Amino acid sequence: MTHIVVLGAGYSGQVAANLAARRADAKVTLVNDRDRFVERVRLHQLAAGQELRERSLADLLRGTGASLVVDRVTGIDPGAHTVELAAGEPLHYDTLIYALGSRADLESVPGVAEHAFTVAGAEHAARLRERVAAGGTAVVVGGGLTGIEAATELAESHPELKVRLLTGDVLGSRLSERGRRYLRRSFGRLGIEIRDETRVASVRADGVLLAGGEHVAADFVVWTTGFTVPPLAREGGLAVDPAGRMIVDDTMRSVSHPDVYGIGDAAAVRRADGQELRMACATGLPAAQATVRAITARLAGREPTPFRFRYVNQCISLGRRDGLIQFVRGDDSPREAVLTGRFAALYKEIIVRGALQVQRHPGLPTSF
Ligand SMILES: Cc1cc2nc3c(=O)[nH]c(=O)nc-3n(C[C@H](O)[C@H](O)[C@H](O)COP(=O)(O)OP(=O)(O)OC[C@H]3O[C@@H](n4cnc5c(N)ncnc54)[C@H](O)[C@@H]3O)c2cc1C
Repeated sequence: MTHIVVLGAGYSGQVAANLAARRADAKVTLVNDRDRFVERVRLHQLAAGQELRERSLADLLRGTGASLVVDRVTGIDPGAHTVELAAGEPLHYDTLIYALGSRADLESVPGVAEHAFTVAGAEHAARLRERVAAGGTAVVVGGGLTGIEAATELAESHPELKVRLLTGDVLGSRLSERGRRYLRRSFGRLGIEIRDETRVASVRADGVLLAGGEHVAADFVVWTTGFTVPPLAREGGLAVDPAGRMIVDDTMRSVSHPDVYGIGDAAAVRRADGQELRMACATGLPAAQATVRAITARLAGREPTPFRFRYVNQCISLGRRDGLIQFVRGDDSPREAVLTGRFAALYKEIIVRGALQVQRHPGLPTSF
């Protein structure tokens, strides 16, 4: 029987393993470095001191027939069709799904790894939570969705904190005019100071140094400028782009190794027009489902249909009581329409719960 091995039990890998175990005529093994599912999209909430409910992967997989291996993947040998593990014996696969996700980019600016906090991983977010509790001035670097959500969550949950957000471009530049205006109003209401078009050259224990030499003081720095991906695809000789994301075709199959598929943040999945999908559950979940469809089609001797993706919206939480839903065109460019305030916060909460529901019921619709 074909053995499908899935690496990474985040949003996309867990759905792929769960669905493949239900739909494919194959043995399925899911490998992850912890036995819990991390709700990564809520890690800014964890950092702000909220409790997150833990989900066991064994529970999510119950009844599917998939096996779970809790171990750290240390290498991939596509020639031998094996995966190296830190503790266990190498695993042999017939088909591999690479879904190792991403982590905070700690290397691109000096001092980040030593001094900054992040919300990209559960342990990092928990460390930040402890620092936040001690109060002071927080500088959040990065004006993307993660920076916006982190800054607003911290400011709302800890009104005693002074929060500043530094961003290289203009805050909300990828939103519509209405979206941008609303975002700035929300930041104002929460007392968050914004510094646009500001380049951070280094991070120190006492704040950040800007490209022009100015020192911006902070008791702690939260670094949210982007994610980087694990090196394992590159090290294994699989085709990757300069960022290390696996290059895949329109069925998420590696362009260099046809028995390997790549999904989620760790793969550069593209729309039909060539645009690379952004790192998000909103893109990872439908790609995971489509990958399983492609694999089951090929196992049955059929040619799979290409993956077609259209964006619908960008859902941004601004704390627990406010939000901004930016409706977008299929290519992610903003429409003028936005939903704001408490309804938007509720809308976002429903989407986040939906992304978790899909982990248990991997066939549910995921175009959100
Ligand atoms: C604070 C925050 C808020 C976000 N908000 C949103 C949002 O609102 N909407 C949205 O669409 N996206 C959001 N994102 C992005 C979203 O979380 C990611 O795009 C998504 O988690 C990617 O899913 P994935 O399956 O590729 O990887 P991940 O969810 O990162 O999962 C990867 C898995 O692989 C495991 N792993 C990694 N390396 C190894 C190894 N060597 N061996 C074994 N296991 C390993 C990890 O432990 C993890 O379980 C947010 C991210 C953050 C940090």
